[in-house]
This record gives sequence, structure tokens and C-alpha cells, in this order.
Amino acid sequence: MPLRSSLLTAVAGVATLVAVASGAAAASRPTVARADVPADARAGGAPALPASVGAILDDSLLGASGKLRARFVVAGLAERLERALGIARDVAAQGSVVPRASQLAILPMLPFEAKVRGRVGTYVLGMWPHERRWRRGALLDGPVPAGFIQVTPHNRDLAISEHFRLGDFLTKNQHDVWPKMLVLREPLVDKLELVIDELQAMGVRVDHMQVMSGFRTPAYNARGVGAGGRARDSRHQYGDAADVFVDNDRDGWMDDLNRDGRIDLRDADVIVAAAERVEWRHAQLVGGVGRYRATSAHGPFVHIDVRGHRARWG
Ligand SMILES: [Zn+2]
Repeated sequence: MPLRSSLLTAVAGVATLVAVASGAAAASRPTVARADVPADARAGGAPALPASVGAILDDSLLGASGKLRARFVVAGLAERLERALGIARDVAAQGSVVPRASQLAILPMLPFEAKVRGRVGTYVLGMWPHERRWRRGALLDGPVPAGFIQVTPHNRDLAISEHFRLGDFLTKNQHDVWPKMLVLREPLVDKLELVIDELQAMGVRVDHMQVMSGFRTPAYNARGVGAGGRARDSRHQYGDAADVFVDNDRDGWMDDLNRDGRIDLRDADVIVAAAERVEWRHAQLVGGVGRYRATSAHGPFVHIDVRGHRARWG
């Protein structure tokens, strides 16, 4: 009851609570529930939350950008939260996952322990770098993800923030395997939205930021360690890193952001400058920023993460 009352206080002013389910009938499919967000929260940042709620939802529902449209919580908490918010799962709305701008989705995650012998269902993830000692009976010597977001053909296009969809961050393999497992942390999405804000403030129009690589399963990441320049302990495996470029014309290549008639590292520098400004203003989102030049396989891009301490390369 305390949770219920504090949550209801937190969302005072919410006119309606609705739910959009993407498959409540099938247990294997993740369910998406949405609650309307108060107008003042959209305009001026999220409402102040009681500590008990803050512990669940971080310090704000919508992030520092105010542009998050989804929160990822471990399954048990997601159900408590939905009950507390009075969100009923709506089987009739199955498949209706196109979000309204004013809504916040609560996505339950499968616990990390759902992974057995490197897989969840038929989806292959592999072993996280710090996990092997655990398997031998010793304690973990580092972090593993809190859990997995299940992505299906029904929810892959769900808007998780103003500019990004759930499916944007999937590992690019196992194309025919569903559901796919995704590790993604909201602070990354929040930071990317703030970078877009800064770019716009710098006079760079951003309609579309392409995520070239978001989450990488350890099994997928391992193939590129060394030769491809991937780190064995890459942040991409923890859902808090993305390789991005601005691609308004959606040709799969960086746009000419500095308008010098060439697409090169200087265009990546424009994104780096925006990320730098975001870190000045939001210390909690500090992390890695690396720039990469074009190869025959890809255009210039920028790696951005929220590892918790400053790192720069490239
Ligand atoms: Zn990267």
C-alpha cells in the first residue's frame, strides 16, 4: 500500500492510465503497459518522486532529457508498478504498440538467471566476461546485466524515447530467432537524446540518429575482439554503449554535419562536441566518447557510453 499511495502521488495530475499490451495472452511475449505522463512532466522534467519510487525508477520517470518513453524494470517490480499505477493489461490491444507521445511504457525484464548455458530460449547470448568464475562456483568479479528485455516483431518498433525505437539497439544477428534478448540501460538512451538536443542547439538539424551498433551479445562481441578493435569487456555488452551517426537522409552514412562538402572525421567531431557539452551539464551521464573514421564498410561514427567515468579515444 505505501508503494501504491506514493506512486499515485507521484503521478498526480495524470488524467488517464491506459495499457497497451503486445501479447498478454502468451507468457513468452513481453507485455507493454503505458501510463500517461503529466503535461508538466513533459514540459519541465519529471515530477519529484518519493524516495521509495525513486529507488525503482531512478531519479526521474522521463530522464534528464525528459524524452524517455519507456522504463525497463525486473519482472517482479514491473508487475508491482503496474498494479500500483492501476495499469491493466489489455489483451484487446495486442499488437498495438505505436506509442502516443504522452505515454510511458513499462517493460518487464527477464532476470539474468533466465539465461541457461548461454541462451534464453533459442536466442544465443554467450557468457559475460565476469561470469565464468561464477560458473566455477566463485563470486562474480565484475558486473553482469540486471536482466533481458524481450523483443518481438510486435514491440520492436516501440518508441522508447523521442528518437529511438526498441529494435534500434538489438544485436544484428540471429535474424529469424524470436523473441530476441536485449540489454539496454535508460541512461544511454537519455544521453543520446541530450546529444541530439545539443546538436540542435548548435544549429545541426537531427531528424534521425542511426544506431550502427547498440547492444552486442558477448557471443557476437567476441568475434570482433582484437581484429575489429572491439574490447573483450566492451560496454556494448552491458547495454550502455552505442555507435551512432546522424543520418537525416537515411542513406546509411553520416551526413555532412559541418557543411564543408566532405563527410569525414570532422563530422564525427561535431557529435563529440555535443556529447562533451552533455557531460558538462549532466555528471551522472559521464562516460566514454570515441570517434571513428570511415572505412569501406561504414562511414564515420561516434561511440557514446555511460560507463560512469570519463574516457576519450580516437
Ligand atoms: Zn562502440
